[in-house]
Amino acid sequence: MLSSRLVTPHCMLCDAEGMLNMAICHGCFNDLPWNLESCPCCASPLPTHLPNNNCCGKCQKRPPAFDRSLAPLRYEGEVALLISAFKFKGKLEYGCLLTQILADHLADNIEEWPQLILPVPLHKHRLRERGYNQSLEVARLLGKRFGIPIEYQQLQRHRNTAHQSDLNYAARRKNIRNAFTLTKPLNATSVALIDDVVTTGETVAEISRLLKKGGAQRIEVWALARTP
Ligand SMILES: [Zn+2]
Ligand SMILES: [Zn+2]
Repeated sequence: MLSSRLVTPHCMLCDAEGMLNMAICHGCFNDLPWNLESCPCCASPLPTHLPNNNCCGKCQKRPPAFDRSLAPLRYEGEVALLISAFKFKGKLEYGCLLTQILADHLADNIEEWPQLILPVPLHKHRLRERGYNQSLEVARLLGKRFGIPIEYQQLQRHRNTAHQSDLNYAARRKNIRNAFTLTKPLNATSVALIDDVVTTGETVAEISRLLKKGGAQRIEVWALARTP
């Protein structure tokens, strides 16, 4: 399990002295691929800020079932390396650092906090393989920091879907459709859905459709990073 410890850590990228209670130094922090200009709806990186806080063309054409997405970083360079080691090599300390960055971003941007945090579930076979669900690790830290309950058994992934990034749009939708179920009635109207990386947005869109059918009125997607 991830834990936030009060130590003076060293930078995970260059071993210089870290910033206050963070395992990254000022230089590496500033050099991270920040997702500054992004779609307010799907967090997709944009070349420039669109006027009037408009959503990207894709979201305008086909509004997703979630209401807003926040992802402070772009999934590239050092961030892609850190996330992949967090996900596949058990480097939970990398997840801890990236979650601190996400949490600070949320603290700066959220006006109204959700009632419940739901991590995107892994299929039980993949969970057994990996030993942990990276999205649940992120959710736990966020829940603790902001005092929001987490429900990690609310959603179940009952199909072990192929990797979304390997598929085209039509295949992605088909691949993810009906991959999730609600295991019990939803006890909240305002929900934050946690994923480590939002790649195509299809996974969180599919879960959001399910949650809205189950009574959710507002859904925010919080992710460590967004694929450009
Ligand atoms: Zn550094
Ligand atoms: Zn968008």
